[in-house]
Amino acid sequence: MEATLNIPGKAINDKLLYYLDICARCGACSDACHFYVTTKEPPHAPAYRMELLRRIYRRQYTWSGKIFTKLFKTNGVGSGEFLEEFKKAAFECTGCRRCTVFCPFGIDMGAFVGLMRSMLYRAGRGNEILDMLADTAISKGEMIKELQETFAETIRNLEERLRKETGDPSFKIPVGVKGARILYVALAGEHSIIPAAKIFNKVGENWTLSLFEASNYGYFTGNIEKAKKIAERIVNEAKHLGVKTIVISECGHAYRVFKHLVPTWFSGFNFEVKSIVELVADYVREGKLEVEGKVVEEPITYHDPCQLARNGGVIEEPRMLLKLVAKDYRELTPSGEKNWCCGGGGGLVAIPELYELRMKAGKAKAEQIRRSGARIVATACENCKLQLNDLNRYYNLGLKITGVIDLVAEAI
Ligand code: SF4
Ligand code: SF4
Repeated sequence: MEATLNIPGKAINDKLLYYLDICARCGACSDACHFYVTTKEPPHAPAYRMELLRRIYRRQYTWSGKIFTKLFKTNGVGSGEFLEEFKKAAFECTGCRRCTVFCPFGIDMGAFVGLMRSMLYRAGRGNEILDMLADTAISKGEMIKELQETFAETIRNLEERLRKETGDPSFKIPVGVKGARILYVALAGEHSIIPAAKIFNKVGENWTLSLFEASNYGYFTGNIEKAKKIAERIVNEAKHLGVKTIVISECGHAYRVFKHLVPTWFSGFNFEVKSIVELVADYVREGKLEVEGKVVEEPITYHDPCQLARNGGVIEEPRMLLKLVAKDYRELTPSGEKNWCCGGGGGLVAIPELYELRMKAGKAKAEQIRRSGARIVATACENCKLQLNDLNRYYNLGLKITGVIDLVAEAI
């Protein structure tokens, strides 16, 4: 089916034009992309993804692209075949920016892919599942008054349970506390509340739990307005409660959205933003939190979530924490900034028809874990955990997948 894809005028800026112009077609990015190295399909090659966008730009904004349509390959733009390639290029990408690290010009493919997704959305060709998940989060936010009571009761029950489990009758999971220092934004489900709550109680932190979930599917859809709506609820909550720091649970894209995008979306945003991993590392450095020792016996490694490490600079903190609790910490090769993406980001873990592709794209990750000899893989992102669990089953790796914070909470 045909569709007209357009680059909105406001997206044309010096950076975009520079990137479109400077690419030397050297191909260094192709070997860095976990999709391209396993599929060898042109729409998975980072430079080709950009070439599709370049054709639209030429057809839309240059006289040469309008006249010499065959020469500049602008004649096929708008065809069903072009649309299929464009969709593949935009949605079969995790936005990991590994290609950017290997590109001699540092061309930001994540920005291109974000623009491509937004163009598809505007043309009515976005991803329905991601869009539905974003809409669900928005309507949940609109019904918050009705949901607040149920949430408070769930948290009271959890608090009661943890008082028994920890033997600490004063154990607290505060909600809606004005003047708290920290607003902790968890994910759906108690698994991302419990370890953080244990650590906060241990150090006597003045914290409060957000009513909202950290994940932001609007960011994946390419519809920035939806992404803003989802984030705005947390910004308003932080303002209302007067907190100083917004702490994001182990979730890579939520961290990226809050750390790098939200401050540019809302005026007067003057909160510090931290990942829970950074905060817990601070507690250790400041001597506020002590672990009981190296409680993890089996060999363990760390998978760097792309949005936290490569795109967020959080590389040392999780390693410092894991080395405190583990007897045999092993590094993956490569790791940190050059770590292989697991293949689950960019919203891909939520799209069932991409399962086989995800498994293929995660092969490099599975192989580097196997080479390390680790039996446990810790990471600090929910999407990575889901993908690593799938890879574990698919490649029969026999691993345990866990969070960094979970291990610290077990060791205090
Ligand atoms: S951002 Fe990641 S997934 Fe997307 S093209 Fe680059 S290396 Fe591939
Ligand atoms: S590495 Fe950079 S310059 Fe080379 S083809 Fe890829 S995007 Fe273009």
